[in-house]
Amino acid sequence: MTSAFDLSDRVAVVTGGNGGIGLGMATGLAQAGATVMVCGRNPDKNRAAVAELKKLGARAESSIADVTSEADCKRLVEETVNRFGRLDVLVNNAGINIRKAPQDYSLEEWRQVIDTNLTSAFLCSKAAYGALRTGGRGKVINIGSMTSIFGASFAAPYSATKGGIVQLTRALATAWARDNIQVNAVLPGWIDTDLTVQSRVQVKGLNENVLSRTPAGRWGLPVDFAGIAVFLAAPASDFITGTAIPVDGGFSVQI
Ligand code: NDP
Repeated sequence: MTSAFDLSDRVAVVTGGNGGIGLGMATGLAQAGATVMVCGRNPDKNRAAVAELKKLGARAESSIADVTSEADCKRLVEETVNRFGRLDVLVNNAGINIRKAPQDYSLEEWRQVIDTNLTSAFLCSKAAYGALRTGGRGKVINIGSMTSIFGASFAAPYSATKGGIVQLTRALATAWARDNIQVNAVLPGWIDTDLTVQSRVQVKGLNENVLSRTPAGRWGLPVDFAGIAVFLAAPASDFITGTAIPVDGGFSVQI
């Protein structure tokens, strides 16, 4: 019998898969047998990520794409289907943050964060829908945050995108359930990546706060996202859709 966690006949696209949480998820998918198309803007990071995935024995390629561009999102899906013949899994993970007080954001900064974190998930999902439906099955995994649940005084546009990601997840899940496409969100706690290296410098006392407020007593690591990626991409989760699952060491359940 095939394992409910086997991905050996699945093709996955991971936006922002060349580092941090995205690469942690891509690694899990590759270890479960999936073919992975990594997407990012930086060709050197893309190349290094593909080399890492190939070392695991996986089929992997990369595509240089900016997920704020609708044309790039379409090309990413086309390149994947042309190269590997199908698409089964889309991980909308690419994201950025700009930290300051709400009143200090320019409209341009607001739009940059909204376009990168939220509109990108809409554009990539829209681009992927035809291939997922044609393939007869599909999984979309969107990356939210603790700011999908809590407010953050230093991250208004980021929080707006991460709240929006959860609602976009529910909308897509209900719209596409009859196409056998499941759409779920993952809400990371505080994870040690390039993104939070900056925040530890910019937000005073953050490191101490994270360590004291996270029941697990540590920062998460990209590798902590391998398991949830496999679960949400695999047949094991075929009757689960529209959920938002925290991967946070208990951060969201402790007052
Ligand atoms: P990193 O900065 O390590 O990775 C971000 C990734 O996104 C990179 O691969 C980057 O690649 C890619 N990216 C950024 N902008 C674009 C763009 N316009 N087009 C294509 N790719 C882009 O961050 P994390 O791994 O920490 O974050 C990944 C996701 O997890 C984000 O959505 C983030 O909001 C979320 N998250 C992270 C948390 C944390 O504590 N680290 C907590 C909660 C959520 P490149 O530079 O090559 O374009």
